[in-house]
Amino acid sequence: MMRSDDRPVILWLRRDLRLTDHPALTAACAGGRPVIPVFILDDQVAALGAAAQWRLGQGLEVFARTLADRGSRLILRRGPAQEVLQALIAESGAGAVHWTRAYDPISRERDGAIKSALKAQGIDARSFPGSLLFEPWTVQTGTGGPYRVFTPMWKTVRGRDVAPPLPAPGRICAPEAWPVSDRLQDWALGTAMRRGAAVLAAHSAPGEAAAQDRLARFIDEGIARYEQRRDIPGVEGTSGLSEYLALGEIAPQRCWHAAFAARERGGAGAETFFKELVWREFAYHLMYHSPQILTGNWRSEWDDFPWNTDRSDPRVIAWTRGRTGMPFVDAAMREMYVTGRMHNRGRMIVASYLTKHLMTHWRIGMDWFAEHLTDWDPASNAMGWQWSAGSGPDATPYFRVFNPESQLAKFDRDGSYRRAWIAEGQVSPPDTALDYFRAIPLCWGLAPGDPYPAPIVSAQEGRRLALEAYQNRSVAG
Ligand code: FAD
Repeated sequence: MMRSDDRPVILWLRRDLRLTDHPALTAACAGGRPVIPVFILDDQVAALGAAAQWRLGQGLEVFARTLADRGSRLILRRGPAQEVLQALIAESGAGAVHWTRAYDPISRERDGAIKSALKAQGIDARSFPGSLLFEPWTVQTGTGGPYRVFTPMWKTVRGRDVAPPLPAPGRICAPEAWPVSDRLQDWALGTAMRRGAAVLAAHSAPGEAAAQDRLARFIDEGIARYEQRRDIPGVEGTSGLSEYLALGEIAPQRCWHAAFAARERGGAGAETFFKELVWREFAYHLMYHSPQILTGNWRSEWDDFPWNTDRSDPRVIAWTRGRTGMPFVDAAMREMYVTGRMHNRGRMIVASYLTKHLMTHWRIGMDWFAEHLTDWDPASNAMGWQWSAGSGPDATPYFRVFNPESQLAKFDRDGSYRRAWIAEGQVSPPDTALDYFRAIPLCWGLAPGDPYPAPIVSAQEGRRLALEAYQNRSVAG
């Protein structure tokens, strides 16, 4: 019989696949109790989009190796989280369950119910911070409410202390007997990707070590010019950290402190980078305080706007396939199929084009991104789409319609972004442009030698139609 304080701690991993800056893991290891790391394939994980699920599988594989290198293991179990945890407690005699907080409404409801049930059985069920710089309830307006506009929130948090970096625990004690685990390959997390997986793999370096390398490279080579280059999609001007942050392979605290140190050394760009990290915080702040942002118009006055909601509309299909005839839109959509990511300017352009030029509901675009992004993040995706559509908090007004032609002329002056992703019309297209044809379903019937399509709607006509609909509805901007 184990003494109660010797009982193992179950570390329930979710979007926190790392060893450093991990308060739940650090607490689990304190005192030298055995730790049983577990990842659960429940309905929420099963509902992830194809690319995000594939990327999760890659991340789990690397993380399991990282744990094995330290004499630990990643236990994989499938089923409703509460049942799985109860079974593991019964099998292992665990006395505690630790996890890093999630902030979306479904996770919060699930985690709250699990915490109450486990506590009622005398299990030390505890949630920890780790995914955000600031817990959403610690950031308030002067009158005590949540922020609805970015800039005042930024002003409130920019000078705040951020939790210092936490090293990986020196030792992760193994239990006397390991519970059985599923095999990762039996979960088949990438199968929905079909042809795309092989193409994406060339653009993905999963895991905590790769995330830290990426951050170090950005601090050494990118941050000084971040301000000037972050809007140019044809160069590697941004950190590329989003997929690591989305899966918790790196903590925002580590990014913040690395940038802070660069600023102390006189490095430019750190302030702008902080600001972007705080946009991520803002998205979580909104999702925490107004979870309906994930499903409905954040501003209800948009509920009767005449959005197109037909996913089989040929113009919507052209958008999904990167065949609108608008090079900026098409290049960005293709970048997403090939790399699992899309430059932020591209995201703004394709979202504006879908919701304004094609007057299509932002939810259709949001769902398409959720299926195809490896850096999919529920809060940032929903905020980005509602911001672009005009229906969100602090949104770009609907009447501000990005012109995809002048945006291309401004941000892709040398044409390198266009050439990188659009093969049609090029004598020797680069591999990136050809990879799009290797990634997409064969049934789309597209080939690099096809003629590039004429615009399905001209920049001017799309703008005119969008503004006309907007004025007719007289929705407040
Ligand atoms: P950097 O410029 O290096 O920024 C550093 C980090 O700050 C990013 O990794 C990200 O975590 C955060 N960040 C930067 N810009 C934003 C922003 N506008 N909103 C929220 N966080 C930001 N980001 C996602 O991580 N997942 C998504 O699913 C997602 N969907 C989006 C959908 C739309 C329509 C739009 C307009 C934006 C979306 N974004 C999303 C935000 C942004 O485009 C990406 O975070 C950024 O392009 C990632 O590249 P990076 O890591 O090189 O960014």
